[in-house]
Amino acid sequence: MSFPIEQIRQMFPVLHQEVHGKPLVYFDNAATTQKPQSVIQSLEGYYLHDNANIHRGAHALADRATRYFEDTRETVQKFLNAKESAEIIFTKGTTESINLVAYTFGRKFIQTGDEIIISTLEHHSNIVPWQMLCEEKGAILKVIPINDAGEILYEEFEKLLTSKTKLVSVVHASNALGTINPVKKIIDAAHAVGAKVLLDGAQSTSHLEIDVQELDCDFMALSAHKLYGPTGLGVLYGKREVLETMPPFQGGGEMIKEVTFEKTTYNDIPFKFEAGTPNIGDVIAFKYAIDFLTEIGKSAVKAHEDSLLTYANELLSSVKGFIPVGTAKEKVSVLSFNINGMHPFDVGVMLDAKGIAVRTGHHCTQPLMKRLGLEGTVRASFAVYNSKSEIEKLAEGVSQIARIKNK
Ligand code: PMP
Repeated sequence: MSFPIEQIRQMFPVLHQEVHGKPLVYFDNAATTQKPQSVIQSLEGYYLHDNANIHRGAHALADRATRYFEDTRETVQKFLNAKESAEIIFTKGTTESINLVAYTFGRKFIQTGDEIIISTLEHHSNIVPWQMLCEEKGAILKVIPINDAGEILYEEFEKLLTSKTKLVSVVHASNALGTINPVKKIIDAAHAVGAKVLLDGAQSTSHLEIDVQELDCDFMALSAHKLYGPTGLGVLYGKREVLETMPPFQGGGEMIKEVTFEKTTYNDIPFKFEAGTPNIGDVIAFKYAIDFLTEIGKSAVKAHEDSLLTYANELLSSVKGFIPVGTAKEKVSVLSFNINGMHPFDVGVMLDAKGIAVRTGHHCTQPLMKRLGLEGTVRASFAVYNSKSEIEKLAEGVSQIARIKNK
């Protein structure tokens, strides 16, 4: 069966507009994806009919809101194939999920002289929390190097592992280059020295089939807004046996069992890590984003996006002055590039004038850009609703822009 691209596009109202008098081509999906009608309707429906604070409510609206909220937790559990829904913690996003682990697991289990390993490919949100922790604890941050294609050097990673390694925190798929890391191998090797592993799933969860039990990662962080869901919402998956050893993150309502002025006892997971009133409406709507993806099927999504990436590479490689950045063998649908003699920001503005939305700059990966000797790149990232004709528009636009400097 052919991919139902037109049917899918119809589900996304925002795509059907003109920008600067041209039909919008939205290729900024690694920054945030657009939302299907079902997600928007759920948000509206929640505030029109169901709005109430959740858990412990004695009335019908509170009961309904609680049920819908917990339904999403179960949907996320199935989506990641976690063992149980208690292993799914709602946060503000990938950034907060990683910080949660740094503040709780990190503060308790990482001591002076211990080591944390990250990779050169990391987003700032998987660098800075560990630097802050290392500074506080006198721990050491080690970085896996990469080759010029943007792939980690696995043998170098093995050399970095020691009995002092307490945590390996790596990106599953790079937002800047699209590289998919060999995470299963990384996890198994890290476990062999007794280290825990956190996967930054911000970019992988919308493209790749995820099975946290098979991967055997200890934590996975993700953002709903990169997965066709609402902004300001994310998930931390953690194995029960690890989460149970960790102290709470923030103190407040919901995360307690009993409070007296002398002593407080904490709630069970996941509530222990969800202090205060959560982002109820957005959590409820997130279920519809996951249902949307699940209905299409991740393998069909990946095949479609792979074909877009292959087509884009094919068309753009013949453009004089086109310089691809990040040519790993295993990639999600991220195309980073530069045009000889041009600043990425200028290319972005010129593409915008043609109705094509891309991102330019360092993509919150400054150390990676430094390693590649670049100030930044132009990044076109493709999603399930993008089409081959849009890729042709990108190639035509880039080719016209490149001709200015590359005659
Ligand atoms: N990690 C990666 C790989 C990302 O792409 C992003 C978002 N660009 C983040 C972490 C941070 O996600 P958020 O801003 O949603 O917390």
